[in-house]
Formats: sequence, C-alpha cells, structure tokens
Amino acid sequence: MNSQNAKPVALPYNRTRQAREAETMLDRIVDDFDDNPAAMAYFYDLFRRAWCQGEPMERTGVRVGTTCIHAPEELIYAMGATPVRLCNGSYHYDQIGADFMPAKSCSLVKATLGMLSSENAIPRIGKLDLIVNPTTCDQKKKAGAMMAAMGHAVYDLELPPSKESEQSRVYWQRSVREFALRLRSLTGNKLTKKNLTAAMARTGRAQAAFRTLHNFRRKAPSLVLGKDAFLVTNAYFFDDIDRWTEAVEKLNAELARREKDGFCAAQKKAPRILFTGSPPIFPNLKLPLLIEQAGGVVVADETCSANRMLYDMTSVDEWLLNDMVDSLADKYLKPCTCPIFTNNEDRIRRLLELARSFAVDGVVYQSFAGCQVYEMEQRSVAEALNKAGVAMLYVETDYSLDDMGQLSTRIEAFIESMKTRRRKAA
Ligand code: SF4
Ligand code: SF4
Repeated sequence: MNSQNAKPVALPYNRTRQAREAETMLDRIVDDFDDNPAAMAYFYDLFRRAWCQGEPMERTGVRVGTTCIHAPEELIYAMGATPVRLCNGSYHYDQIGADFMPAKSCSLVKATLGMLSSENAIPRIGKLDLIVNPTTCDQKKKAGAMMAAMGHAVYDLELPPSKESEQSRVYWQRSVREFALRLRSLTGNKLTKKNLTAAMARTGRAQAAFRTLHNFRRKAPSLVLGKDAFLVTNAYFFDDIDRWTEAVEKLNAELARREKDGFCAAQKKAPRILFTGSPPIFPNLKLPLLIEQAGGVVVADETCSANRMLYDMTSVDEWLLNDMVDSLADKYLKPCTCPIFTNNEDRIRRLLELARSFAVDGVVYQSFAGCQVYEMEQRSVAEALNKAGVAMLYVETDYSLDDMGQLSTRIEAFIESMKTRRRKAA
C-alpha cells in the first residue's frame, strides 16, 4: 500500500497531549500531598474521567456555553437548558489558540478559543446550541466574532463598562431581559416565576454549600488545602450542579469531623495566603500548587474561578417575575470585583476584608501575560494592602510550565519571608 495514502492513526485519547497535561497536574495535586480528604475522591475521579480519559459528560437537552461569570445561569436552568463554563486552563489549547490569535493575548482566552476550535474539545460536553459571551474585557469581546467564525452560534451579552451608575444598572437589566428572550427562542420555553424560583433554589443550594466550604477555610489550623478548593470550584464549570452540590456537602461534613478531631491539613504555622487576580483554571493550577508545596496554604481567594463565581447570592425583594429577573441582574453586576469595570474600589475593599477575616499573612496576585486590566490594577491593590500591613507578591505568568523553576524560587522566598515575619512578631 502507498504510505502517502495511509490515514494517520488516531492516538488513544489518554495519550493525547491535553490528557497527559491534565494527568500530570492531577497526579501532583493528589500524590504530592498526604491526608487528602476522602470526599475529594469524587472530584479527582471526575477530572480523571473528563480530562484524562475524555469520557463524555452526559447532558440532555439544550446546552449553553458561557465564557464568563456574568452569564446568569439561573435563566439558563429555568428555561430547561444546561450551562457549561468554557473558560479553559490547558496549555495545549493555549498553543492551538496561539496559531490564530495575537501573540500577546491572555492564555485564558487563547485556550478557550483553542479548545473550541479543536476536534478533541475537553471536557466532552457535546455540541453547544449557543455560546453566551458577556462583553467584558477587550479580548473576550473580540473572541465572540472568532467563535462565530468557527461555526458556533454566539450571543454577545452586553455588559456596561461601569457598575456604579443607575444608567449602567438599567442598561444591564435590559441586557439580561433580552438574553431571557433569546433563550426562549432557543429552547421554546417561557420564563415563569415557577421555573425561575426552582432554578434559583438549585444555584442557591450550590452556593450555600460553597459558602460553608469557604467558611471552613477560615479555620486555623487549616482543614483543607487551597489546591483542593480550586479543584472543587473548577468542577462547577462542567459538572451536573446537583451532583456537584452533594459532593461539596459531603466534603463539608468531612471537614466538620476534621475540625472536631483537631486535624491539621498543613503545618500549624503555615503562612496563610489569599490568592487574587487572573483565575486558576484546571489544569493550570501551578501557582496554588507551588504555594502549598513551598509550605504555605491558600486559605481564600478573590478570583472568578472560585469565590467571585459562587459567593454572592441573589437577593429578591419582590417575588414577581420582573423583579426576580432584575434582582438576578443585580447579582451579576453589583458585587462583581473583576477589573474590567472602570471604578473598582470594591475589589480593594473585598481584598482587605478577606485578608482581615481570614487572618492572612500575604497575598499572591496572578496576572496572565497580556491581561492589561489585571496588570494595571496590581499597583493600587499592592498599595492598599501594604498600607494595611499585608505583603503582596505580584506574579505575571501564562499557562506554560517554562517558568516553574523561577516561580518556585520567588514563591519559596515569599513564604519564607512570611515565616520570618511571624517569628519576629511572636
Ligand atoms: S477575568 Fe473577569 S472577564 Fe475574565 S472570565 Fe473572569 S470575570 Fe470574566
Ligand atoms: S484574565 Fe484578563 S484578558 Fe484574560 S479573560 Fe480575564 S480579564 Fe480578560
């Protein structure tokens, strides 16, 4: 047979680059630490099946991909559809995205587009019926047209650049109502008080489970490590919401037992770190992992792959459909501390509050190379934290593992300085 006509043999999925990348990270998260909570087995297994073995994630009905936390998922659930967050943390997909995106783009956006353009998109959630793309940072704004050019149905959900004024609030409430109409034409279902109440109860239960976990992380000594907490919230991107909630509730029950037994997940005097900035998204959990391998413990975060995504709840004044939709819109605008907004005093307030209430020793601020908004805000955040006596380490990085050695040296030095500070204060 002529070898030129031979078809390339497809690699078994678990030998593809994205599977091996995921496996390496997962092995480090699981095997490099003793005493992982037994309830984390659910999440380790989920990521192994979804990312390392490429197992399809069962889904029925209409599937709506979301590219940011600003897409109101309660509306998607209420209309009988399922949301899947598409923000991706794979270096493999980042490199695919780099083939058609500017070299200085943010890894998150490159990886998301790389994944969407790939035949082997992971997690395997099946064909998306719609992608809702909130118009947040410039790169995400422009990404909408690129996704459409790949053949995806894209809905640009218009977000105002500021969140302070009444005009911006009204503008956003209108955007959210228009999005509900788009979902109606997509699913054929009408939004009702009943289906929206049920959807809010589902996300409310998930958020309550998250808040309990968040509060367990406040305890000293620590009951759970940050690398596991990030894996839990990353699973929320694509897992079935009810199964996810049950698994977090089980983890919380185990943490309650750990607290009763006086268990320590890290060294008693491990420096407590607050993580902020560009979001850690699996498999790019290199920075939280390096912090904990260096002897620190990530006790809290201010990122859109964890706390910012799940902490703030909907507060409804009047249980009438229009008021409920407006309250939902408020939840997705007002408390958000993403630096895409013009005035962002809220982010500094939130960081200072987290630093105080979680008794943190230092803050690690991650900014993906090419992300101007996080880069630009780091100076004002560092000044505010320094004024409050909290040291901050600023790290500009991307999804490649090339800077691991250099990052590890910087993080070890930072953690060591926290320990020295504690010793002097004792
Ligand atoms: S960093 Fe901001 S714009 Fe980007 S996904 Fe997160 S919340 Fe959305
Ligand atoms: S990290 Fe920055 S550039 Fe990337 S999605 Fe978030 S805001 Fe946009």
